[in-house]
Amino acid sequence: TSRGPSSEEFYRARAHSNPLSDSHFPIPISPSHVDLSLHFPKASFKKIEFADIGCGFGGLLISLATLFPETLMIGMELRDKETEYVKELILALRKTSSGGGEYENISVVRTNSMKYVPNYFEKGQLSKMFFLFPDPHFKEKNHRRRVISVDLLDEYAYVLGGGGVVYTITDVEELGEWMRSCLERHPMFEALTQEELDSDPVVELLCNATEEGQKVARNGGQTFKAVSRRIAYVS
Ligand code: SAM
Repeated sequence: TSRGPSSEEFYRARAHSNPLSDSHFPIPISPSHVDLSLHFPKASFKKIEFADIGCGFGGLLISLATLFPETLMIGMELRDKETEYVKELILALRKTSSGGGEYENISVVRTNSMKYVPNYFEKGQLSKMFFLFPDPHFKEKNHRRRVISVDLLDEYAYVLGGGGVVYTITDVEELGEWMRSCLERHPMFEALTQEELDSDPVVELLCNATEEGQKVARNGGQTFKAVSRRIAYVS
């Protein structure tokens, strides 16, 4: 059968062609070492609030940039080619932005999010984290490589503020179940209600803003979302 480029074969082939090592990119030793002026030279806002984990070619960031013009957001991407592409794209969009000042609120960093999220963000700093069409890692022995797990949700709960939202979507049903189940089992997260999902303008971007989402839509593929809120801190 031909399920198109989001098939299991496609993901598997890519997993095997990914011999990346962390030693090639610099890592801030703490969030206070993240140089915002390099990422957002013209923005006056002081902290990053959204993180797009495994941002790929950056379609979500581009859509969010104008939807939330006063929010700083960053894509975290392991692959060099994608990261460079997103950097160039953002620079080009900044130059051509009609009124000036658009796209100054988005940036990208090459990093391994599974290891370094706490190096980039302080406790409670983020209000949204995105995991759009993450790599499925089908084999059970590779499940530990999935970017959503109960253990990693501890870290995400740490960097998200109370009420902050984790958005996940995939075209791989088994991974969708996995992400939903991790979020359900984690004591610091609760699923958004259908009403909340319907009134959140970001939810519709999950299926169609990214390159992977557009591929799935073109192939008529099904998608599986799980969206949960970081339960507020008890003071
Ligand atoms: N979110 C994008 C989209 O929807 O088009 C890209 C989806 S693509 C299937 C998964 C992306 O996650 C790839 O670009 C991959 O390099 C990136 N990725 C995988 N593991 C990662 C990690 N540990 N840290 C950062 N990025 C990672």
